[in-house]
Amino acid sequence: MIRVTIWNEYWHEQTNDEVKKVYPEGIHEHLKKVLGDEEDFEITTAWLEKDEEHGLSEEVLNNTDVLMWWGHMRHHEVKDEVVERIMNRVIFGGMGLIAMHSAHYSKIFKKLMGAPCSLHWRAYNEKARVWTVAPLHPIAQGVPLEFPLESEEMYGEYFSIPKPDDIVFITWYKGGNVFRGGCTFTRGAGKIFYFHPGHETCPSFYNENIIKILKNAVRWATPGIIPDFEGGHFKEPLEPEVTDRPPILDDMKK
Ligand code: ZN
Repeated sequence: MIRVTIWNEYWHEQTNDEVKKVYPEGIHEHLKKVLGDEEDFEITTAWLEKDEEHGLSEEVLNNTDVLMWWGHMRHHEVKDEVVERIMNRVIFGGMGLIAMHSAHYSKIFKKLMGAPCSLHWRAYNEKARVWTVAPLHPIAQGVPLEFPLESEEMYGEYFSIPKPDDIVFITWYKGGNVFRGGCTFTRGAGKIFYFHPGHETCPSFYNENIIKILKNAVRWATPGIIPDFEGGHFKEPLEPEVTDRPPILDDMKK
């Protein structure tokens, strides 16, 4: 089983009627439903006000293979000790992280990127077209070369992230902007995917291609194993019989 925890700020859905219409039970419950038909996904949800630790206790994180994150207005309210805990679980435990939409500004994403993660945006929704630019990447399997989103918030370049491991998707907007909207990163033992769709008033999480991409991303971000990840001495050389080392400076002088 792949143990997935879907974390949502869960604020807009409770305070804004327009958002409530699109995601009446909250984005987290909606995602749980649409991803839940994968038989090997074991999905739980958490949100900002679930408990003192935002539903992300040590125990929850230690039992999470992939953490999905949606946040927007209340990033600053996520406790630093919880962010630290998530970061350690990603870097040393190999937990995958999928940062969705405005999670580009979440504490955990910015901390893992070590960069401002700012971008250009427009405060209304417009037609977008998602282009698959790494079609062989595991996250792109079964995804068309391009597909439209009838309505999505414009997030555009320049996106101040570190150079990604792979740019899997680039999005074009009717207003003319483009965006590296689907990027992968590695931090320590953990795999990270940022994916831009998912504005709270847009139905992107109902789109079959978006759902496919998120399912692929969960599988891709599942922890792998790095042999002897913690490091240490190689006290003895592995090839003691090899003596034809290249000359060092002193030898060359003679
Ligand atoms: Zn938004």
